[in-house]
Amino acid sequence: MSGSAPHLPAPDVIIIGSGVMSAHLGALLKRLEPALSLQVYEATAQLAQESSHGWNNAGTGHAGLCELSYTPDRNADGTVDVANAIKIFAQFERTKQFWASAMAQGLIENPRDFIRPVPHLSFVHGQTMVDFLRARHAAMQAHPFFAAMQFSTDRGEIARWAPLLTEGRPEGPIAATKVDAGTDVDFGVVSRKLLAWLARQPACAVSAGQRVTDLKKSTAGWEVAVKDAATGKLHHTRAKFVFVGAGGGSLPLLQTAGIPECRGLGGFPIGGQWLACDNPAIVARHQAKVYGQPLDAAPTMAVPHLDTRVLDGQKTLLFGPFASWTTKFLHGSGHWTDLPGSIRLHNVATLLKIGLKNLDLIRYLVQQGTQSMADRLKVLHVFYPAAKQADWKLVDGGIRVQAIKQTDGEAGIVHYGTEVITNEDRTISALLGASPGASVCVHIALEVVQKCFPHLLATAEGQRRMEAMIPGYDRDLTALAAARDYPPVTALAEQRLQLRPVV
Ligand SMILES: Cc1cc2nc3c(=O)[nH]c(=O)nc-3n(C[C@H](O)[C@H](O)[C@H](O)COP(=O)(O)OP(=O)(O)OC[C@H]3O[C@@H](n4cnc5c(N)ncnc54)[C@H](O)[C@@H]3O)c2cc1C
Repeated sequence: MSGSAPHLPAPDVIIIGSGVMSAHLGALLKRLEPALSLQVYEATAQLAQESSHGWNNAGTGHAGLCELSYTPDRNADGTVDVANAIKIFAQFERTKQFWASAMAQGLIENPRDFIRPVPHLSFVHGQTMVDFLRARHAAMQAHPFFAAMQFSTDRGEIARWAPLLTEGRPEGPIAATKVDAGTDVDFGVVSRKLLAWLARQPACAVSAGQRVTDLKKSTAGWEVAVKDAATGKLHHTRAKFVFVGAGGGSLPLLQTAGIPECRGLGGFPIGGQWLACDNPAIVARHQAKVYGQPLDAAPTMAVPHLDTRVLDGQKTLLFGPFASWTTKFLHGSGHWTDLPGSIRLHNVATLLKIGLKNLDLIRYLVQQGTQSMADRLKVLHVFYPAAKQADWKLVDGGIRVQAIKQTDGEAGIVHYGTEVITNEDRTISALLGASPGASVCVHIALEVVQKCFPHLLATAEGQRRMEAMIPGYDRDLTALAAARDYPPVTALAEQRLQLRPVV
């Protein structure tokens, strides 16, 4: 995709990385202001091969439907706080709306290549968790976003929803909720589709095999050094605005930029691994994403799930993620020196405090890193008691680099969220952290545009273009939902994405 001229001379915008975040920001900016010149640089030979690649994440369209980690707290009166689930639902709606408008305007086609309806289930065992799920369901169902959520403690019904969950399961209380409108997404495919569109636009270039190695502030914006992977030649260019969407590579790049906003920031990589089912007869019997309750000291993003996926055009069944210990920040093109190389005088204290304050997490990573296939099967049996080792193999998943920062002058904490870091004059933005991740890419792109390109939204034409991409972009979806003014927008987007039939 690099073409014969991989470098635009002094573009308005340089986007580093070709993952889901960069692809969506690039497409959104170009549609908002077609006159913008825009250069994407990707270090690897192919686009979107890191965290956004289908095999390197769980492909869950996170909408709060099944992930118990968004609703962990019970109030004193036993009710469950569902505010976080409502928030993530609204953020994923933005993503679906953007995809639907990208379809309508011809940027992408064939939504079945990247998004499919897959029911989202939460599944728990033991009386305490059954009571929790019942209370969660009551709170969720009261909100219009989750009105269609079903709850059951009946083994027969749960077996109809997902037969593997009950097969061979000993007696004891179990419960599940189900929402049919869940999705499975291949974030790598949709990223490549959007980048292919971007590469066809005037004054745009998407160049693979080009690693950004240095960022230096200048009066007009940023001086950017780019190394050609094939020839090793350095190219120097400049842009008024830079987006660092380099995933695990973002922190080292931000450190070269030396902006004060990144002082004290660190990164902590956690690798992912999946059990993949090799037996087509078992794969065919499961059609759901099933998220369970937290296990031991597992961090929220490592709570395992049993997932129907469609990858490379084939239905498959993945269980995980299991965490693995790594010092690499990128899965394919990372190096073991990434973590030690990111340590600076200004973040070493934070990193040390992290170690001391998160002993449970460290113990958990050591336990995960040393476990055998039989240990992993034991965890799988919590979901699928009749699973046999011969049907499963271990495959590598992606790497999440959790953002670490000082909070309110306090000791550092590991952030499971996503952080957009922007410098004072708003000429550079970077994305750190990995959760909830790809599902909220449009929400993040919108945040970057609102903060760094407010002039593009200051005109009636800019607002019209943005409204065409994301209906109600400047309105609070949760408030619209409460006023029952929202579902029609969703229905239209879902029809376009072939998630519900056209009536
Ligand atoms: C195990 C696991 C499960 C997950 N499950 C889900 C899920 O179910 N749902 C969900 O929504 N999210 C999930 N996520 C999170 C999601 O995958 C990420 O948040 C998202 O893919 C990040 O996209 P990105 O564009 O920021 O980074 P990436 O996709 O990693 O892209 C960054 C790109 O930048 C390139 N790059 C790096 N350094 C440079 C450089 N110096 N110059 C040029 N290019 C560079 C890289 O090669 C890469 O292509 C999961 C993540 C993991 C690890």
